[in-house]
Amino acid sequence: MASIQYLNVVCVLFELDRPFSNNFWLNVNDPRVSFNGIVETTNLNPRPDLKGKSLIYIPYYMSRDNPRWSWGDSEFYNEYISALKLIEPNFNETWILRRHVFRDVNAQAVCRVGFSEITPKMRTPIVGLYITDSAQYYPEDRTLSASVRLGSIVAGIVDRDLQESQIPVLL
Ligand SMILES: Cc1cc2nc3c(=O)[nH]c(=O)nc-3n(C[C@H](O)[C@H](O)[C@H](O)COP(=O)(O)OP(=O)(O)OC[C@H]3O[C@@H](n4cnc5c(N)ncnc54)[C@H](O)[C@@H]3O)c2cc1C
Repeated sequence: MASIQYLNVVCVLFELDRPFSNNFWLNVNDPRVSFNGIVETTNLNPRPDLKGKSLIYIPYYMSRDNPRWSWGDSEFYNEYISALKLIEPNFNETWILRRHVFRDVNAQAVCRVGFSEITPKMRTPIVGLYITDSAQYYPEDRTLSASVRLGSIVAGIVDRDLQESQIPVLL
């Protein structure tokens, strides 16, 4: 597990008083914009309870030695609001109702050549200890579906081990 490298992620979330676009997922490949995409989740799930408001989030993956990892929230807001204006010239800061910055370490495994050989197994050398980790989705990318599938597979392994009495039953 220690040999796997991961990227960290910073997700900036904006709640707007109106839709930003008609897109759920907008890939951005423009040297003037630092991030690679905008996800407007309310265009996939309109959330009637939000009464026309929209939620957009902007993920940015980076290694922990990237200077942006130590940026403060306002540095992200300032840069991203300028970029949003570039993408949608009508966008105005007054549309923003609430905003948040979320940071998560080890969010994405870096899958180098030979990755399948170092992917950790679900059954660990410690009897009774099992792990599931997004690195085990390989060769798929991270998805909720893959995590549900892993959970199901590891539950089957635990069940078989229990039946074969390889792990103690704690009641
Ligand atoms: C920025 C980003 C965007 C993504 N976009 C998508 C997407 O569009 N579509 C998609 O399908 N997938 C997406 N994914 C991937 C998806 O989110 C993951 O694959 C999925 O959430 C993994 O589910 P999980 O239940 O295994 O882990 P998690 O969702 O990480 O759940 C683990 C939970 O355990 C809790 N926890 C951790 N340690 C402890 C502890 N010691 N005690 C108690 N609780 C603890 C955590 O707080 C967390 O709530 C994205 C991931 C990221 C980071």
